Amino acid sequence: MKISIMSQTDREVKFIVEGIRPAFANSLRRAIMGEVPIMAISTVEFSANDSVLYDETIAHRLALVPLTFDPKNYNMPNECKCEGKGCSQCQVTLVIDKKGPTTVYSKDLKSSADDVKPMLPDIPIVELAEGQKLKLEAVAKLGLGKIHAKWQAAKVGYRYYPEAQTEGKISNAEELVKICPKNAITAKDGNILISEECDTCQECVRAAKPEGSLIVKGNPNKFIFTIESISGLNAADIVSLAIDVLREKAKEFGKQVKGLK
Ligand SMILES: [Zn+2]
Repeated sequence: MKISIMSQTDREVKFIVEGIRPAFANSLRRAIMGEVPIMAISTVEFSANDSVLYDETIAHRLALVPLTFDPKNYNMPNECKCEGKGCSQCQVTLVIDKKGPTTVYSKDLKSSADDVKPMLPDIPIVELAEGQKLKLEAVAKLGLGKIHAKWQAAKVGYRYYPEAQTEGKISNAEELVKICPKNAITAKDGNILISEECDTCQECVRAAKPEGSLIVKGNPNKFIFTIESISGLNAADIVSLAIDVLREKAKEFGKQVKGLK
């Protein structure tokens, strides 16, 4: 297996993996989306809500606010020493206490833990008019994206790596450079080269002369992955956590298979 990073920021990582099969690529994608534990608001108790939004709507909006957290500090509720009753190792309390006229933003969530806070400060939650109050206590817990989208770590997509094959010489190579909607083609001596931007749309294949002189297709053993974090974790950390999950699953599977003997 060969991996090369195409681009990387805190929020997004793009890389090429070579030497894996589609089934493995899909396992990785599913682990990233559904199996990496993420911190999100899970229950909200309201003591005052005079706003125009129902309690449920505000709770839903709060749950979708990405929260930063240190994965080392928290357990999944069902794996915690407290047996899911709730303690400082498996949950964090955040409170809002605001009075109108004002707009309540994500930054108004005051957290009981230093590492847990809204990833972005200016997500509007609700507008309060003169005299209206919003007072609530929210509890955030770790959970999995496969249970609810609020716990989804990242958006992830992959595609086959584009490759071009030529049969003989293409007579209109220069023309194909202009036709490509992704500007992914460069021409050289009647031959063409395609870049990673190519999405195998086949526009150039249809226009190539003589007919059949060009084949563009994706390599099913080489993938371009794009992972964009939509949680409080950075994109590269999400990938390594997802790989840990896959490793654990394989280990567990091996253990159980041994028990079959
Ligand atoms: Zn606990």
